[in-house]
Amino acid sequence: MKIEFTPIGIVKNEITQPREGFTRKHLTSEIEVYPSFAEGLLRLEEHTAIDILFHFSQSKGYKLVTPIYTGEIKGVFASRSPHRPNGIGVTTVKLMAINNNRLTVSGLDAMNGTPVLDIKPSDNTFFETNTQSAGITQQRLKSNPRSILIRHIKSEDTEQLLMDAARMHGHFCPGLAMGVMAATRAVNELNNSSDGLEDVLAITETNSCFADGIQYVTGCTFGNNALIYRDLGKTAFTLASRNGKGIRISVKNDFRQVLEKVNPDYQRLFEAVIVKQNHDEKLKQQFKEASRQRSFSTLELPFDDLFKIEHKTVEIPPLAPIHESVTCQKCGESVISTRSVTIEGQTLCLDCAHQKTGTLSGHGIG
Ligand SMILES: [Zn+2]
Ligand SMILES: [Zn+2]
Repeated sequence: MKIEFTPIGIVKNEITQPREGFTRKHLTSEIEVYPSFAEGLLRLEEHTAIDILFHFSQSKGYKLVTPIYTGEIKGVFASRSPHRPNGIGVTTVKLMAINNNRLTVSGLDAMNGTPVLDIKPSDNTFFETNTQSAGITQQRLKSNPRSILIRHIKSEDTEQLLMDAARMHGHFCPGLAMGVMAATRAVNELNNSSDGLEDVLAITETNSCFADGIQYVTGCTFGNNALIYRDLGKTAFTLASRNGKGIRISVKNDFRQVLEKVNPDYQRLFEAVIVKQNHDEKLKQQFKEASRQRSFSTLELPFDDLFKIEHKTVEIPPLAPIHESVTCQKCGESVISTRSVTIEGQTLCLDCAHQKTGTLSGHGIG
């Protein structure tokens, strides 16, 4: 089998001799992507570490076992030698700038004139979980899953918290950012956050994006019974200890105007894409980008410009009860007893009994 590649671009730098690249890793190179492939660079600027795959066009022939630069003898696949059966090089570089079809990168060890075969964002997951410091981090997380998170809360590192919360939420948006800000402040004021055992409760008054920032940072979730949802339609929440001491944080009435100042494009795009549901791909992309920018710039705003804080006493519900389970005699599935009914002597789940259940959706509780 023969495989052919078409170069997508070319390397331009000062490296003119083989081997030189190795010792000149700090050098800045330009990668000119050919115009017919330039469209493929869309949103590459969101990555700082990228992999460049290129062809060792100057290297001739190869040996399967060969001395490497240290003088040691190694198999070609245990080395980064340019003399390889397929002559493919791969280097992770730092992306410094993109100017139309020209990338400025640092750390590329390919020679001037090298054909570029591919460009892709680096995947550092392997390194994240395999370095020694990651090992220490993992140990710490195994003893307390919130240990790192709490450090970020204590140091008010809302940017890190937003990035982490977005893993769960799926996108960056100002609502999530505000949830993260409010929750960070509340946890620090109360000096308490959830360990998943209902010692701390969050009472959210909205089920919008804001609520996910609250869940992530406070650790109060539906699953651990520490999140209470009051369908009030207000961007507000209360964090309370079991002793009833609580802190309510709500947005100020003019928070939209405050946000609009830092990212004036957002509201127009929000109207078009979300309110009027114009799902034009380009417009959607612009909205996503504006939303991302606005979410991070929101974090920079003075807290008191956006939020109001009240200290209050909260009536805390008793700990969540544990109910026994029964088996629905129609579908045979296990169901907690308080969600079963007896009809004509038969124990049934609410679905089999065709009864309405409370449902929380984007429309609130219905
Ligand atoms: Zn959102
Ligand atoms: Zn059933």
